[in-house]
Amino acid sequence: RAYNFNAGPAALPLEVLEQAQAEFVDYKGIGMSIMEISHRSKEYEQINDETQELLKELLGVPAGYKTLFLQGGASTQFSMIPLNLLTPGRTAGYVATGSWANKAIKEAKLIGEVAIAASTEADGYRRMPKPSEIHVDDNWAYLHITSNETIGGVQFHEYPDTGKVPLIADMSSDILCRPIDVSKFSLIYAGAQKNLGPSGVTVVLAREELLAESPKNVPTMLRYDTHAKANSLYNTPPAYSVYMVNLVLKWIKAKGGVAAIEQYNREKTDLIYQAIDNSGGFYKGLVDRDSRSIMNITFAIEDEALEKQFLKEAQEAGFIGLKGHREVGHMRASTYNAVPRESCAALAEFMADFQRRNG
Ligand code: PLP
Repeated sequence: RAYNFNAGPAALPLEVLEQAQAEFVDYKGIGMSIMEISHRSKEYEQINDETQELLKELLGVPAGYKTLFLQGGASTQFSMIPLNLLTPGRTAGYVATGSWANKAIKEAKLIGEVAIAASTEADGYRRMPKPSEIHVDDNWAYLHITSNETIGGVQFHEYPDTGKVPLIADMSSDILCRPIDVSKFSLIYAGAQKNLGPSGVTVVLAREELLAESPKNVPTMLRYDTHAKANSLYNTPPAYSVYMVNLVLKWIKAKGGVAAIEQYNREKTDLIYQAIDNSGGFYKGLVDRDSRSIMNITFAIEDEALEKQFLKEAQEAGFIGLKGHREVGHMRASTYNAVPRESCAALAEFMADFQRRNG
């Protein structure tokens, strides 16, 4: 298997792919693939319900939350959130921390009033704001944050306390990478294609009261209440993607749950961050240490020609997806849950070797 450091769609656990392969043509003796069965069948209903329960179990979700499986990617949530929750006359707060937060802000502005609760633009988005820097107005409809900026490589390590104002988080690129206190959040959403499964399904986990009644003028498919009332079966769901999420969640459970996954992620990313920190400045991390992400590691080599050479040789050595996003450039290694420690160890070794030869 390739050393897959793609930012998304990203690596899936080999065990999950193999199980899907074994069940691909004939799911549990029914003589059909999950792709072929009705979403009204008892087999799919069981997958739909069990996947919701597994997610709640792994995240330790308290009573009063509902999980939805939607389509349109996390990008559609950028509009669904304000369409459903930012009613006329109200303002929503957004924390501007990089590319993805800014995309969410752009969409929300098309729909209602937006206030910037904090911004790290002046620091080149090299860090996450501290909770004390985020100013929350008690009248806001909600506060939106981006838990992990996939492109920049910064991650919140301490979430803000918003009191009565609902906290909403885009966790597309770090859901289930570490334990969180779900009760702090009113709504969490994530496109599946990094830590949850393949693309095609977006998970929304929210307090039931937030999903109960959408404003009258919101189109049916963009209303949370449509999907909440129908248990995510209002229209044809992305059944195969949900099935894959089910397998990924069972894989996380078998690994010992989210706390064990965090431990594993820290060991993995330490290998690469140490290769950067021990390089005497040959490799440079692109973000402040206390905002470093354990999902997306961004780094550079100062000499442009040498950096090009690094990317070329890395590709030849079988490392996939290390070129940084075009907005940031340089290098990015995405180390999602399913990326094995061996891939990270191999990259750290490659980095040390490249430095020995070129430093
Ligand atoms: N938010 C974050 C943090 C992301 O990393 C991404 C995709 O990379 C998105 C939103 C957009 O997700 P989608 O492609 O599912 O619309």
